Amino acid sequence: MGFTGIPFLENKYPVTMDVWPMEAREFNKIYEFYDNLKAGRFTTTKCKKCGHVAYPPRILCPECYSEELEYIDLPKKGKVMVCTEQLRGVPLGFEAPLVHAWIDLGANSPVKRILSRIINCPAGQLKEGDEVQFVVFDVPAHPIEIKKETKMAERVFFAFEPAAK
Ligand SMILES: [Zn+2]
Repeated sequence: MGFTGIPFLENKYPVTMDVWPMEAREFNKIYEFYDNLKAGRFTTTKCKKCGHVAYPPRILCPECYSEELEYIDLPKKGKVMVCTEQLRGVPLGFEAPLVHAWIDLGANSPVKRILSRIINCPAGQLKEGDEVQFVVFDVPAHPIEIKKETKMAERVFFAFEPAAK
């Protein structure tokens, strides 16, 4: 990763149009989720008090309001339940086709189904029942200022992709 700034903005758009989260510990209370992504782990939060598992990860349990949460791993493979493809007019910074799917993570998963973007997938190919796998990819690093020093914060994000057959 060696980007400076946000390449797709090309100085034409304000930095507030950056589509990726600020993932650094200094700016994001779920930074651990992103740290886990960088280690190749797909995780979410589980409440230590009542056991409730929330997805996406939280900083507060939505059931009992406890702040005592721990990160647990989720399955990295699933099956497509339903999908959509956007071929035109995709948001700035994305390329068509923009594919999203509801993914069944299986009966034993603490989170049964999630909505995710599907990458590395040509238009018209994905269908119900297809197996997809978790994938982490680099996104442009972001300059952050900590104690008057500017440093580049490396960033990643995740999606799913069709599993190798
Ligand atoms: Zn709880």
